[in-house]
Amino acid sequence: MKALVKKEAAPGLWLDEVPEPSIGINDVLIKVKRTAICGTDMHIYNWDAWAQKTIPVPMVVGHEFVGEIVHVGSNVNDFKPGQIVSGEGHVVCGRCRNCLAGRRHLCAHTSGIGVNRPGAFAEYVSLPMSNVWEHNPGIDLDVAALFDPFGNAVHTALQYDLLGEDVLITGAGPIGAMAAAVCKHAGARHIVVTDLIDARLERAAELGATRTVNVGRETLAEVQRELGMEEGFDVGLEMSGNGRAFNDMLANMCHGGKIAILGIPGENTAIDWNTVIFNMLTLKGIYGREMYETWYKMSVMIDSGLDISPVITHRMSYRDFQKGFDVMNAGEASKVILDWEN
Ligand code: NAD
Ligand code: ZN
Repeated sequence: MKALVKKEAAPGLWLDEVPEPSIGINDVLIKVKRTAICGTDMHIYNWDAWAQKTIPVPMVVGHEFVGEIVHVGSNVNDFKPGQIVSGEGHVVCGRCRNCLAGRRHLCAHTSGIGVNRPGAFAEYVSLPMSNVWEHNPGIDLDVAALFDPFGNAVHTALQYDLLGEDVLITGAGPIGAMAAAVCKHAGARHIVVTDLIDARLERAAELGATRTVNVGRETLAEVQRELGMEEGFDVGLEMSGNGRAFNDMLANMCHGGKIAILGIPGENTAIDWNTVIFNMLTLKGIYGREMYETWYKMSVMIDSGLDISPVITHRMSYRDFQKGFDVMNAGEASKVILDWEN
């Protein structure tokens, strides 16, 4: 089968012919229809320090996908060929304390598809049945391909009550923009999104931001005054991974404000701990998606009219993958969809 492979310990990806994945008795074989390019794939493509120490080569990469089940192992009763599914990319151990208690997103022995085991930028991908999520009938395939990053947005955004709350989202990348859509859908009042790139802020506004702020030109304090907010934001969603953005957020939260942190900061990012303590802020780190509460909420929100499709900026055949990675590296794109059927 055709697959995008990290063939050598060097920048780039190779469209290569590799054997179809074999499946065990508990596995499901999926024919991939669409995939999306993630920031993680860009780290692997660019072969940065993280990728060099994490990715064994050769490796079929990619983890954001939707496809159709074509074969199931002999032990699999709940899935059958023909179903349209995506996969939870974190394969957990199933035996540790957290897994046994149903807190699988907290498993300390996670292996990632397209990172530690063969991924989804391929004609076929094999997954344990416990990692398969069936979509509701009629779902738009491009949207279905986004359930992994959409899940990061939903997992983060739904940490705290949103109805009637004022929310600050730092970072208008694809995940920040989708989080704005979720906050809007969930009934937040002000949804203020920050970034330094106007095109990204415009996309966030299209998805649900009620006020966008280019922090290169405006301060959050000014925006708070304009909106008549007296005490600061109730909920903060950190989705930039940028230390300045995070400190900006801390300085603009209300007393007792609650922050969920998805963005991954650089090493030794300093924050003002006095603000955290004296303002009694709650900080919570977020990783991945909850299995499968986040997935359930995603399907239900899409079903009830949430539209995240404006986050998709490019669609192309997998054969044109090089163009997809180039537009991602140029910073022009939000989500790039690769079509594996054409
Ligand atoms: P992205 O890099 O596309 O978006 C980040 C955005 O933050 C960019 O648009 C950038 O311009 C903006 N930014 C930079 N400096 C800023 C500043 N000072 N103020 C405001 N905005 C600023 O990333 P993404 O794919 O949307 O993901 C968001 C973050 O979440 C990334 O840090 C990513 O590594 C992280 N992530 C974490 C998990 C997890 O499980 N914890 C999963 C996926 C992604
Ligand atoms: Zn476990």
